[in-house]
Amino acid sequence: MRQLVIVSGKGGTGKTTVAGAFIALAWRSICVDADVDAPNLHLLLHPKLLEEEEFQGAKIVVKDEEKCTECGKCEEYCRFQAIKDLKIDPFRCEGCGVCVYVCPEGALKLEDEVTGYTMLSRTRYGPFSHARLKIGAEASGKLVTQVRKNIERFTYQEELVIIDGCPGIGCPVIASISGTDLALAVTEPSVSGLHDLQRILGVTRHFGIKSLVCINKYDLCPEMSEEIEDYCTREGVEMVGKIPFDPEVLEVVRQERPLEDLLETKAGKAIEGIWETVKNHLFPV
Ligand code: SF4
Ligand code: SF4
Repeated sequence: MRQLVIVSGKGGTGKTTVAGAFIALAWRSICVDADVDAPNLHLLLHPKLLEEEEFQGAKIVVKDEEKCTECGKCEEYCRFQAIKDLKIDPFRCEGCGVCVYVCPEGALKLEDEVTGYTMLSRTRYGPFSHARLKIGAEASGKLVTQVRKNIERFTYQEELVIIDGCPGIGCPVIASISGTDLALAVTEPSVSGLHDLQRILGVTRHFGIKSLVCINKYDLCPEMSEEIEDYCTREGVEMVGKIPFDPEVLEVVRQERPLEDLLETKAGKAIEGIWETVKNHLFPV
């Protein structure tokens, strides 16, 4: 079983489009949407939901009013200003437990809080593990880890897992790349694109994950694309392809057309070339 993760230094670089196209090209793979903060791989895969479960990803403090003597210690010690006039604000509470510790009456306790839902689905390209966060809940590495772990519940013959990773470099990103065999970083030809690429490659390098790079919409700024290519050469990171800007991709997604239509676009053709190289890295002959 080989695991490929598609990453980017920030959202909106075309990471999910590349992941979706790879899933169609691989034909049968286990699909994972680890971008739990802004999941949209389902828009491309049109999954049929099989199972949905609550995910308890945080703790929240609750008070037993009968035990409370209104001493005010909890409010005094809460550094998140989550207690005001002795009332707990669930939107500010970080579940740190300090108030529970300082309360002399044992009136406070921490309870598990449902922060999202994990889902297992079927798609024509293979089984699909994904999630959705509750509104206002923070994307957590724990939820990403659970989404990846849930693939163990499938019975499958597929030899490849394709993960649409989290953007950025924080805890959910680390959870989406850890233990994978290969990362493909998708970037854009801009100064911030290069900066984000440097950051994400720093993370994959730190975790010892081999990385490849592709540039999306490279023709919007050929000079910057060249600069990114030079950077990759200097760093010894293989540039596996460049994808042209193609408004037709957006049309395919907007009209909810099958992924095969995406592969027929100009951008899709370029992604197909990238896939051939990525596949050779995953399954060298
Ligand atoms: S510390 Fe405990 S007893 Fe004091 S105000 Fe807070 S909940 Fe009530
Ligand atoms: S658990 Fe922490 S953040 Fe929440 S109310 Fe208590 S002290 Fe404040």
